[in-house]
Order: sequence, then C-alpha cells, then structure tokens
Amino acid sequence: MTGKILLYYKFQPIADPEAVRLWQRDLCEGLGLTGRILISKHGINGTVGGDIDACKAYARKTKEYFRGIEFKWSEGSAADFPKLSVKAREEIVAFGAPDELQVDDKGVVGGGTHLTPEQVNELVANNPDVVFFDGRNAREAEIGKFKNAVVPDVETTHDFIRELESGKYDWMKDKPVIAYCTGGIRCEVLTPLMKNRGFEEVYQIDGGIVRYGEKYGNQGLWEGSLYVFDKRMHTEFGAPGDPNFVQLGHCVHCGEATNDFYNCANEPECRHQYLSCAACREANPVCGECAQK
Ligand SMILES: [Zn+2]
Ligand SMILES: [Zn+2]
Repeated sequence: MTGKILLYYKFQPIADPEAVRLWQRDLCEGLGLTGRILISKHGINGTVGGDIDACKAYARKTKEYFRGIEFKWSEGSAADFPKLSVKAREEIVAFGAPDELQVDDKGVVGGGTHLTPEQVNELVANNPDVVFFDGRNAREAEIGKFKNAVVPDVETTHDFIRELESGKYDWMKDKPVIAYCTGGIRCEVLTPLMKNRGFEEVYQIDGGIVRYGEKYGNQGLWEGSLYVFDKRMHTEFGAPGDPNFVQLGHCVHCGEATNDFYNCANEPECRHQYLSCAACREANPVCGECAQK
C-alpha cells in the first residue's frame, strides 16, 4: 500500500465551522486518514496522511465544498501522524486577530499582492528599495532566509501584531515589502494586518518559500535551508554539496556549521529549540541561555 501526505489550506467564509468539522472528521475516519485539520469561520488548514486512494477520495470530496482548493502532495503515510485531530477554532492561523481578518468568496480581503517566483526576482531586479520581511518565527530564519531579509523578533505568530505596532519597522512603510513564509498561509493573514497598519506596498509569494525553492533552488535570492514542521526539521534545495548552498546555521556553543535543532534539555522551564553540533549536544544538551546560567 502506497501512502501519501496532503497539505492544503483555503480561505473561504464558513457559516457553520462546527458542521464542517463533523463532516471532515467523519470523512477522514471513514477513509482511515490521520493528521491535523483546523477549521474556522475563515476557512480550513490541514495536513493528512494515508493510503493513496484514500487521499484521492478525500481530495475529491473536500473540493466539492472548498472549490479551487489546492493540495500539495508529498511522500508519507498515516504513520507520520499519531492520530486524527479535527478542530474548530477562532483562527486557522493563530495571529490573535480573528475579527480583523476579512474573508470573502475570493479569499482574504485586502491582503498583499501575490507574486510568482519569477515576479519576485523581477521586482527585486527593478527596485533597489524592495525589502523581504520574514513572516515566520525568528528561529526558522536562523537556518535560512531571503537575502538581506528583515527578521522580526517573534516566537509565535501571536507576536506579530505587537512587532508591527512597535515602530521598529516604520521605515519600511513606504517601501515595497515582500512578506514570505513556508507555504504561504501565514502571509495570507500577515499581509492584511501589515496593510491595516500603514505598510503601503505589500506583496506575498504564491506557494511561499517552498514554491520559490522548487523554481530557483540555490540559484535565486533564497539562502540556506528551509525549516519544516515534520520529523525532518529542515530541508535543502538543490543536491547535497551544491556549491551555491549558503550555510547560515551555527552551533550556539562552538560556532560550528549545523542545521540541527534540538529541544533544550532544561524542560519544562525552558522551551527553546536551539542549533547545536552533535559533539556539543552530547557534552551539554542545553540552549545558549541556559548554558550561561
Ligand atoms: Zn558545537
Ligand atoms: Zn534552555
């Protein structure tokens, strides 16, 4: 039996999220899929895995209600997820702004202009003022980011509004800003929040870093690795040993090149994930802050 994983999201008004939740739960249970699905009045965001035929049936059924939804197919199976979790929440991406986000039949209202990877390069080539703005948490950017990107000081998406209102980024407000994140969903929410706070010319990348990397690998404006939310933890564009690959991550203890994140052993007091080489991890399995204590 061949397995697959489906990743997807769709912003679309949902009058009764609880009804959609029950339908999605029954659909997944009937097909033997596992994974995680969030539903809100603004849409759906999910990752499910299972048998390939079950995934196909799931995609077909889900498209009947979420018209135009795009599924990203990747290798894997139901075994990649411990169970099925289908929840109705205030937000499908937790920015803490459920009432500010407006969604209509066409998707998010008032978001940044969508750019293809080619259009990203064109915009940057034609305008020296363009700023990349990282829409992920700061830890993700430690191993990879767009060239010269501004990386805000956020641990979770909940911190973005505070950051945007801090004044630190006001210098960017009259410049073209390209917000980016892993697969695009976080920027769907982040970019209208930016525009509502006075950022005048805001863009986002169709399909996020993933699609940009598929197009340009290490030959474009991306530098380093991509942090991913599965057991791989990170992935690289291009073949191993690609001379154009830029190594950004370094061990917090000795400075050696590494892209390996570990959880600080000082749990539960410390919840930091930090970069470490194998030797330092062996000798002292705590984050930089805890090592100072
Ligand atoms: Zn080290
Ligand atoms: Zn720590």
